[in-house]
Amino acid sequence: MCTIPRATYIVNFGLFEKGRTMSKNMKQTQLFTKTRKDAPADEVAKNAQLLIRAGYIHKEMAGVYSYLPLGLRVLKKIEQVIREEMNKINGQELFLSSLHPKERWEATGRWDSLDVLFKLKDTLDREYALGATHEEIITPLAQEYISSYRDLPFAAYQFQNKFRAEVRSKSGIMRGREFIMKDLYSFHVSQEDLDQYYERAVAAYLRVFERCGLGAQTYLTYASGGTFSKYSHEFQTLTDAGEDIIHLCDTCKVAVNEEIIAEQPACPKCGGALTPQKAAETGNIFKLGTKYSAAFNLTFKDAEGKEQPVIMGCYGIGLGRLMGTAVEVLSDTKGIVWPREIAPFKVHLISIAGKSDEAIKEATRVYDDLIEHGVEVLWDDRDARAGEKFADADLIGIPLRLVVSERSIAEGGYELTERKTGQSKLVPESMLLQTLKSNV
Ligand code: ATP
Ligand code: MG
Repeated sequence: MCTIPRATYIVNFGLFEKGRTMSKNMKQTQLFTKTRKDAPADEVAKNAQLLIRAGYIHKEMAGVYSYLPLGLRVLKKIEQVIREEMNKINGQELFLSSLHPKERWEATGRWDSLDVLFKLKDTLDREYALGATHEEIITPLAQEYISSYRDLPFAAYQFQNKFRAEVRSKSGIMRGREFIMKDLYSFHVSQEDLDQYYERAVAAYLRVFERCGLGAQTYLTYASGGTFSKYSHEFQTLTDAGEDIIHLCDTCKVAVNEEIIAEQPACPKCGGALTPQKAAETGNIFKLGTKYSAAFNLTFKDAEGKEQPVIMGCYGIGLGRLMGTAVEVLSDTKGIVWPREIAPFKVHLISIAGKSDEAIKEATRVYDDLIEHGVEVLWDDRDARAGEKFADADLIGIPLRLVVSERSIAEGGYELTERKTGQSKLVPESMLLQTLKSNV
């Protein structure tokens, strides 16, 4: 019998379900992180500067960041959006190892050819790779479970730390040397079956970007392959912080990557003219074909009993890349602006102490009420000036700000402000839950 308490088990592996272990509420006086005036001097990326100042992440060294309580909440929200969309396309979640045997990487030739691969030795001089990607692990694993065409198709995915010795890492959490990726691998009997699944994956990816608030800025992009295959599709999000140039067609909402633009100078859909713009690659999907099944002899018996190679696809998306891109694209001069679905909390409650303790009492009631009704709320219960609280709330970027003060109470309620637009309205107590529910 398993003696590990279930909650511990789930937290350790970072795989918890929505709402299960993430608390719905927090008081700012209990949050151990604080906002900061300045980011580290060597931090040049806007996403990391803002995220560090607001207390979402901590920089350990170039390209390596820790996620703090607020940052982890955002990361887990993004993870949950992706998980739901991967489950819709029949992905089965698993968790593969980070430490890889050298032989696997030799089998594919990538021990020598993948320049970003981290290699390490133990005290007995045995060599290992730190997972930069997981074809070398999942392909031999799949081989143990696939024997006949009846075992196919299937798809498996994970959220996992990847390690890559990136030469340059000046883009904050958009380019880590250690970063979390969702990688899904699909296994098929035929190219047609892969093609059909691939289209479903494209649709799932577009839903992920939509739900993470980047739908309008993200383009399905035709690209030359990288390490994995000749051609691939990237999901590129328009931002000056991006390291890529894409050529886009706004009518069809597709683009062509800089590297293939010579071969494909017009829109692949309508043949129209393309415009170059800076973008960040937030996702990438590949038809691997038989590349890895050949390396590991992954085959199945077809209906006639003949051995055939399994056809594979792989589908990656960087969670930190996506989170950093959202900050780059959606922030303003005052700070971060989170899209609803991935915000750390939905409501930032701000109490302004007055002459009496009326406002604090009222805020306590509102806080308890929101908790009771399942509204995620961060309460700035600190003993600080109103101006400081407002500036911090703008920096932290929670979608709705709810101010409870003697003045607002005298005017008949609470002041509700949308972070994105700055628009405010006075909401009477009796209307509060209804108003929040229609906004969150
Ligand atoms: P790039 O060209 O930006 O170096 P890549 O093409 O090598 O990335 P893939 O192997 O396609 O990366 O990885 C899949 C996804 O993982 C990318 O689309 C991106 O979202 C994310 N990703 C890749 N490298 C990093 C990194 N160093 N830090 C954070 N996210 C990354
Ligand atoms: Mg890529």
